[in-house]
Amino acid sequence: MKLNCIKCGCAVENWDDVDPDTIQPIGGTVFRTYGHYGSSVFDPMDGTYMEIVVYDECLRDNQHTYQSVDNERKRKFDRHREEMDKLIDLFLEDDA
Ligand SMILES: [Zn+2]
Repeated sequence: MKLNCIKCGCAVENWDDVDPDTIQPIGGTVFRTYGHYGSSVFDPMDGTYMEIVVYDECLRDNQHTYQSVDNERKRKFDRHREEMDKLIDLFLEDDA
């Protein structure tokens, strides 16, 4: 699947090998919204969502981004990383 950056319109490859029905840009990031109260463009309130792709270089250059941490998601990633580290250790022990 070919994707396009919302800022510059350049083509961004999708990682179709993972799941061709999922937007997974290579060299870019995807953002999903279910709409927002206050928008006069997109606020369907029925589960419909919109995804936009931003090419990495366009994201790198953008000064108007807002970052924070989702602590629940961070804990999940930390647990997943610990599990993967344990599996790698077990694999390396078995290989020695
Ligand atoms: Zn772009």
